[in-house]
Amino acid sequence: MRYPKLRELVEAIKALIKGPYTSKFPFQPHTPEKRFRGKPEYHKDQCVGCGACKEVCPAGCIKMQDTIDVDPPLRRLDLHYDSCLFCGQCQAACITQEGIKLSDKFDLAVFDRNEAVESVEKELVLCEACRCVIGARDHLVWIAKSLGELAYSSPTSYLSALKDLKLAHLNVEKSEDLTRQDRVKILCPKCRREITLNT
Ligand code: SF4
Ligand code: SF4
Repeated sequence: MRYPKLRELVEAIKALIKGPYTSKFPFQPHTPEKRFRGKPEYHKDQCVGCGACKEVCPAGCIKMQDTIDVDPPLRRLDLHYDSCLFCGQCQAACITQEGIKLSDKFDLAVFDRNEAVESVEKELVLCEACRCVIGARDHLVWIAKSLGELAYSSPTSYLSALKDLKLAHLNVEKSEDLTRQDRVKILCPKCRREITLNT
């Protein structure tokens, strides 16, 4: 006959005296431990739409979609938390450190898996010449603010910040004939290089 190990015996006696370790959820509310990693949630005002969280997600459960044929053009990030590993990589890699955080929510069961989505939408900035996607407006403003006065070395950075402050006009009309003065516009690297070389 095998005898129980001493540690297991002690645990069994403790459980008999103190009651079970498990909580009575769902019959009673359960409060997770302080550092519990539950449902990741976007915080719209702190997220700048850079997409870094999508890049680092090991489960590939964050999808990013840019739609440019709407006004304003939009970037949407959808986090399908039914595939989430709750690893916390998205939170760790968030460039603002506040855009996405793992909450303490754990009761995530749904009847339809399509409902298990956490989303955020951000306005996009397009190249004023070719209308390709440069990035999310909040991201460009965040870069400009982070760079401080160095942002004035790049028209795309400082114009993004000035437009955010309503100190520059929005102009996303496509220009056919680019001239040297078009250098002071929000441009993608390809169009900026073309203007510099051709004018
Ligand atoms: S917690 Fe991990 S698996 Fe879940 S969305 Fe974030 S990076 Fe992806
Ligand atoms: S700011 Fe943070 S939460 Fe928002 S897209 Fe970038 S990494 Fe993701």
